Order: sequence, then C-alpha cells, then structure tokens
Amino acid sequence: MEFIGQRPIIDSFKDSIKQKTLSHAYALTGPSGIGKKTLAQYIAKMILCTGDDVPCGYCRSCRSFETGGNPGLIVVRNETQKILIGQIRDLIDNIGVRPAFGYKVYIIQDADRMTPEAQNALLKTLEEPPEYAVIILTTSIFESMLITVRSRLVQVKLKPYSFGEMKKILHRNGLDITDKEHIFNLSLGIPGKAMQLLNDKTFEESRNIIMDFLFKRDGFSELTLNQYLSNRKEVFSQCLDILESFYRDALLISFGVGDGLINYDKKDNILEYVSGINPGEIANKINNIQKIRDDLRHNMNYQLAVDLITLEG
Ligand SMILES: [Zn+2]
Repeated sequence: MEFIGQRPIIDSFKDSIKQKTLSHAYALTGPSGIGKKTLAQYIAKMILCTGDDVPCGYCRSCRSFETGGNPGLIVVRNETQKILIGQIRDLIDNIGVRPAFGYKVYIIQDADRMTPEAQNALLKTLEEPPEYAVIILTTSIFESMLITVRSRLVQVKLKPYSFGEMKKILHRNGLDITDKEHIFNLSLGIPGKAMQLLNDKTFEESRNIIMDFLFKRDGFSELTLNQYLSNRKEVFSQCLDILESFYRDALLISFGVGDGLINYDKKDNILEYVSGINPGEIANKINNIQKIRDDLRHNMNYQLAVDLITLEG
C-alpha cells in the first residue's frame, strides 16, 4: 500500500537505499499522532525489500509485512512505563548476529522512554554499528534524550499533512473529514489528533454550545455554557481550544484577513460577531484564556475558572 504524504522523507530514503548511503541510525521526530511509527515501518519495509523499486510489494520480504512479521525487523517498545536496559541488551545481542544477506532493521518506538542506563547501553552500538544494521528511533520529545545519543542520530522531522493527504489517511481508517475543515485546522495537520476529534462525540456538542454562547450572546446561552462546563471538567480544555480558535478567527477577520480561518464554515457568524467588538477586546479575551489555562495549572478553583470564561462572551 502506498504511503500517503511525507514525500521528501520517503524519496530521500529511496535514494539512500539505491546509492547505498544509508546512515546507521535515524530519529523520526514530530508531534504525537503524526504517524512516526507507521513511517518507521514503511522505511523498514523499503530497506528490507529485495525488489527494484522499493518497496516493491511483491518480494518475500515485502509480503511478510502484510502477513505479520519480517525476521529482519525487530521492534522495541516500552513494556512498562520505560524502555529498560534489558530490552536494549537484547537488541544489542540480536545486532551481533549477522544476517544471511541484506540489512537488519531495528525500530525503537517512543525512544525517549529509554532510561538513561538504556540510552547509555545503546550508545556503544550507535558509535560502532555493524554495516548491516539500521536503527530507527521514533520520538515526539527528541530533546529529552541524552545529547550523546542524539548527536549520533540523523534527525528526520515529519511534516503536518495537507487537507488532501489527511482526507486519504482518514479514509483509509474508515473516517470522513469532508465538510469538516475546522477539524482539519484544529488538528494542525496531525492525523492522530484529527481522528481523536472525529471520534470524540463531545467535540461537536462542545462546539455547538460555544457557538451559541458567542453568537447568541444572551443570558440563556451563557447559563447553558456555565452549566455544561460546571458538570464536565473533562471537556474544559477542549472548550477553551474551541473558544480560542473562534477568537483568533475573529481577530483575523477584524484585521481584514479572510484566509486561514480555522472555523471557515462559520465565517458569517464570525463576521457579525466582529461588527460588535473591537480588535483590542478580542486580543484581551485570548490573553484571558491563556491566563485561565495557566492559573488552572496552578490550582485555581475550577468553578471560578468556569465563571471567568462565561463572563468572557
Ligand atoms: Zn519488495
């Protein structure tokens, strides 16, 4: 199956495989949900393919990926909260065994979960890897790993997906984002985030209540929002994000920028909203949301936070 998006990364690996200039260790980095593990699998498939145009999809190695396991690929993932030194020692033992031909690929998922001891154990192998080994780490917090480890990795940064790419990815997962461009915009091009929003039954409900609150601006809609939030602490953060996205759109429109709106589907409502408020006030509202987020992290009373947000409309 063709990989959707991340073309520059895939082309560059294709090239390195052809030219036999692969590095021995890579770190795939990018926000959580962007598809690092899926890409790591695909790169492994490309490296292990014995056909011409990798991954050919037909050779024994390629087919083994569909049927559940390629002996040339070893995946290390955290079994507890952490990836422990024992797991890395097993990997090192395995690396010591030369393959009959071609490469052996090692994927360490969420590599930042390696304990410092595990990272130090891996370091020696990263310094002197056998020529047949390729180690691919995935991490959304690259910077949290030891600098000695990081300096021996080629960092490969995944890019957010376009709307078209996202549509295809979601379709493959049985989801449809047609007419829901705001979800794409809120997801920042990260498929995992978009899937979460699409699967989240409360998201549209929260969005509707926030829209009533902003666009009806009567006592009843304020009360509805207040009661909704009072009883459901778990949706508060999501509601703040939605509210902020509307304020940002309102700010853009009040400065005459019509492009790049998150909630493009509600442009008419936002236009009307903007006619009754000046840009400085909107900017203040955005600052207040940020402040409430910070204060909540520092143990602000939850109901007070709800009341403050409800006063913002
Ligand atoms: Zn193949």
